[in-house]
Amino acid sequence: MIVTQSLGVGGEGSLLGTTPPPRGGAALQWSRFVPATAAEGPGLRAAVWVQGCSVRCPGCFNPHMWAERGALLDDPADLASRWVEDARAAGAEGVTLLGGEPFDQADALATVAEAFRDAGLGVMAFSGYTLDRLQAWAAERDGVARLLAATDLLCDGPYLADLPDTRRPWIGSQNQSIRSLTPRYAAEVDRIARDGGRDALEVRISADGAVAVNGWATDAALADLLDDLGVRGDRVASIRKGTSR
Ligand code: SF4
Repeated sequence: MIVTQSLGVGGEGSLLGTTPPPRGGAALQWSRFVPATAAEGPGLRAAVWVQGCSVRCPGCFNPHMWAERGALLDDPADLASRWVEDARAAGAEGVTLLGGEPFDQADALATVAEAFRDAGLGVMAFSGYTLDRLQAWAAERDGVARLLAATDLLCDGPYLADLPDTRRPWIGSQNQSIRSLTPRYAAEVDRIARDGGRDALEVRISADGAVAVNGWATDAALADLLDDLGVRGDRVASIRKGTSR
């Protein structure tokens, strides 16, 4: 099942992400969709931020996405057909599922992931659960099994703030792994395991002056950048880090 991987190191004693994920409802709880970004995985890809996370890593960069409160609620099949069309129109090569915790809504999100796969697009997912645990739960949880089966590239494991990772892109701590579950991104994962890689940050300024940020930079670097752009902090909608980063 694993083609290539950049294996995480450390954090064996952590209890984060050891409880099976909730089953989630029929509707997808989500927060944001971007049809094309270069900051959330290999190449140009769509990104879906789901709302809700039961892993709750101390120091998480998206604590505002832990609660289900405030989520958009929609039928996953309807979202999937719309998002696939938007992603293709924007020239995206695949989609990244992040949040929040994607595997807390495995059934609904599997429908989305499968639609991207059926359209010939790649699927990357973040999870605060480790692959070992997801595979064990998949034996009894159809949604977890489906979402894993539809995932080409998985970044897994909880975010441990005392083990920061600055060598590899996308993930936030050294215990987290980057795994190619199909050959689609195997060369990229191989290259990261060998050479590491850099994170990217995207800042979008809409016509009404609202600013949205995604990707990853340190708080200090982000503050300096926004200062340079003359942007007030309260104008920024920031979803800067994916699940488990
Ligand atoms: S880092 Fe990811 S898994 Fe951990 S609490 Fe934050 S959203 Fe949840």
